[in-house]
Amino acid sequence: MQKFLQFFNTRATPQSQPIPGTTQVANSAGGFAWELDVWSKLDRFLVLGTEGGTFYVKEGPLTLENADAVSKAIEADGLRVVNRVVEISQAGRAAKNDPALFVLAMAASLGEPEVRKAALDVLPLVARTGTHLFHFLQYVEGFRGWGRGLRRAVGAWYTAKPADNLALQLVKYQQRDGWSHRDALRLAHPKPPTAEHATLYRWAVGKSDTPSIEGSGIALLDAFVRVQAATKESQVVDAIVTNKLPREAVPTEWLTKPAVWEALLQDMPLEAMVRNLATMTRVGLLAPGSDASKLVSVRLRDAERIRKARLHPVKLLAALVTYQNGRGARSKGDGWNPVTGIVDALDSAFYLAFGNVEPSNKRLVFGLDVSGSMFGGTVSGVPGLTPGVATAALALVNAATERDYQLMAFSTKLVPLNISPRQRLDDVVKTMNQVPFGGTDCALPMLWALEHKVKADAFVILTDSETWFGKIHPAQALQQYRERMGIDAKLVVVGMVANKFSIADPKDARMLDVVGFDTAVPQLISDFAAGRN
Ligand code: CA
Repeated sequence: MQKFLQFFNTRATPQSQPIPGTTQVANSAGGFAWELDVWSKLDRFLVLGTEGGTFYVKEGPLTLENADAVSKAIEADGLRVVNRVVEISQAGRAAKNDPALFVLAMAASLGEPEVRKAALDVLPLVARTGTHLFHFLQYVEGFRGWGRGLRRAVGAWYTAKPADNLALQLVKYQQRDGWSHRDALRLAHPKPPTAEHATLYRWAVGKSDTPSIEGSGIALLDAFVRVQAATKESQVVDAIVTNKLPREAVPTEWLTKPAVWEALLQDMPLEAMVRNLATMTRVGLLAPGSDASKLVSVRLRDAERIRKARLHPVKLLAALVTYQNGRGARSKGDGWNPVTGIVDALDSAFYLAFGNVEPSNKRLVFGLDVSGSMFGGTVSGVPGLTPGVATAALALVNAATERDYQLMAFSTKLVPLNISPRQRLDDVVKTMNQVPFGGTDCALPMLWALEHKVKADAFVILTDSETWFGKIHPAQALQQYRERMGIDAKLVVVGMVANKFSIADPKDARMLDVVGFDTAVPQLISDFAAGRN
């Protein structure tokens, strides 16, 4: 018998070949997968960014690839792109706002006139801080010049804010990455809507020096001036408490004093608080049982506060792993003794940052890709947070709400995975960093469930879709599972890097692509598994 099926078989195709009759393309690992449509690519870029690249593709080429997809999306439907940017940025679904600002800058430059206008109109919704504005300006100058539309949009950023709000922006974010308010105001030269605005603009462009500002009538600005000249700790503390001065306004020589940090902590935004935990511990403000420690713990367990602050789980996970370590990534000699209560609170804040996830109450099998490629590159540029490590934290968000689930890791074979939502995440991260990794076979979770007659309503596979090792494609393995088990199981592919591949068949409505570390995703996974969407 001639072995035709060895060469042409739609039901069991080696991953090194495309499934005949499908639109599969070669992935970076020499296997075959499907290519995402531009909208899914846009989402992956907006949520995951390209910082740190992937195991296969460096940051530069990966950015080019994504920018190309963004251009195509703008060409196809620029208004949809602008709306998506606003949606993801405003809800805080991405760990970093830079991809949103970059895409907005592209839409404001490369789109049709009505798209460019729409992009510039939403600038204050996406560029919510001075730093955001500076990053947008840096990006937009890569695509266009300072026409009337851009001048008007940047001008509106300054004129539409009430004076006290603008004062905070000016004091807190004076300059970043080569841009300052002075530059932006000089280019946009908006007409000040009030006398206070006029004072603030003059101050920002440096036309009015410190003495003439005193008694400006803008409390924050006056406090800022006072604190620069302060000679006593009590003056600094008083200026901070009375006027809610941010840390950026306080001269660095005072930032070694516990009393100054205690004053700052009272009105400190949540994200700044998380970023400064190590410093506040080092100066002695955060200690076991201290009032400040209790205050920090209470805030980190406050779901509403976390939601309002748009505090992203990646930032909490990074803070947890760094803080627990007792030394910073950069300053090795400059350690601190982590307060256990705060580490625990950071752990629970991570779960809270995803919102209140409703369980699917279905039978779920989570497959975590722990092949070699998942341990190259980083998630959102966080040191040590590889896609492979991140899969575990992410899978536990859903697992924490479900009753019937299995957590499996796979590379060339299945690896038993001993993690649970009851464990603290820094411990989970350590466990993941010790998992032995090898080649990639994303079909293994389905093949394993079939072999062991494990009943699953949905498989959730967290991967970069760079599968190549297996004798059968994941989509075909799922098909076999469905037929032999008599369960029309679903598949959710959680994309962990901003590449363009997926193991999910776009023609199969019971397969879904989602983006890892999108805060909306755990609920989306649960809804899809439960058939609620
Ligand atoms: Ca791999």
